Amino acid sequence: MSKTKIIKINPKNPQINKIRQAALIIKNGGTVAFPTETVYGLGANALNAKAVKKIFKAKKRPADNPLIVHINKYDDLRILTDKIPPLTKKITRKYWPGPLTILVKKSKNVPDPTTGGQKTVAVRMPSNKIARLLIKESGVPVAAPSANLFGKPSPTSAKHVIDDLYGRVDAIVDGGTTDIGLESTVLDITKKVPILLRPGKITKENLRGIIKIKLDQSLTGKRTKISKPRSPGMKYKHYTPNARVILLKNSIKNVDQRISELVQIYQNKKKRVGIVTTQKNKKYKSNLTLFLGKDPKKIAKNLFSVFRKFDSQKIDILLIQEIADNDLGFAIMNRLNKAAYQVITK
Ligand code: AMP
Ligand code: MG
Repeated sequence: MSKTKIIKINPKNPQINKIRQAALIIKNGGTVAFPTETVYGLGANALNAKAVKKIFKAKKRPADNPLIVHINKYDDLRILTDKIPPLTKKITRKYWPGPLTILVKKSKNVPDPTTGGQKTVAVRMPSNKIARLLIKESGVPVAAPSANLFGKPSPTSAKHVIDDLYGRVDAIVDGGTTDIGLESTVLDITKKVPILLRPGKITKENLRGIIKIKLDQSLTGKRTKISKPRSPGMKYKHYTPNARVILLKNSIKNVDQRISELVQIYQNKKKRVGIVTTQKNKKYKSNLTLFLGKDPKKIAKNLFSVFRKFDSQKIDILLIQEIADNDLGFAIMNRLNKAAYQVITK
């Protein structure tokens, strides 16, 4: 594939002829990147194994990493599963359409590549207007993982998608920047007590307001010691900029001094050092300091695009301070922990 069509669509008032142009590509078994309220997704017909395989190829994503299937109306859930768990209505009534993905047992209609060989399928109904219309006009459930190259930060604008996937997909819908900036919350509701697999905008506190949930083991691990650099070949390294991320815990006594020291150490080694800050007007002697925003909503929205800015400036080492991990902060810290090459606690 060499030529990728760029289709610009007004996010507030999507032009239906353009939506149909993109939908036709999906109907015909092609790949289309499009905005959702979380991040940009790379979509294909979820029921067509050949189409779904194109997603994995374009992203260079390992075949056992399952995709999220996007639907336009609740009843389409019945295409994907024969067994809707009892709690489903309670949860979806409150959070669909929106940034919440549920895992259900997959039906025969769902081909193995879509679920990475799993017996469960991940499903969500997005709220973004372009996404909804595109799925509706495609007439099929649309499998769509984040529209980035595997291992890169998720894309929050069409430009990010173009940077990663131009020439590798059939079309990219440009519908502006995404609202939330972090991937959806993933909840396994096939269990008696649902399990939170990935935190997102819909927080554990939100979910606990309506149902009982447990956190997946991967979300409860506490790292206390100074960690060794993690092996580069970790299977599902995620959300990472090219720079090595060093996460500084709030347990550090004089964090500004520690940051200055680290900048010195790495600059002496001829490394370009970047700093991510949540305090406006804070001055550091780094090669590049970028302000993320102060409140968690802004931080979530800007995080991945800030990662990409550091990459474009060839930053080698990126220093980031921990933020409070309640509510949306829990999702942000989950991404930062995954991105971190090293965690410093004192
Ligand atoms: P992405 O949209 O790129 O963030 O990728 C979708 C993510 O959803 C995967 O990496 C998993 O974390 C999760 N997911 C999707 N389907 C399943 C499944 N059947 N079992 C467990 N996790 C899933
Ligand atoms: Mg992804």
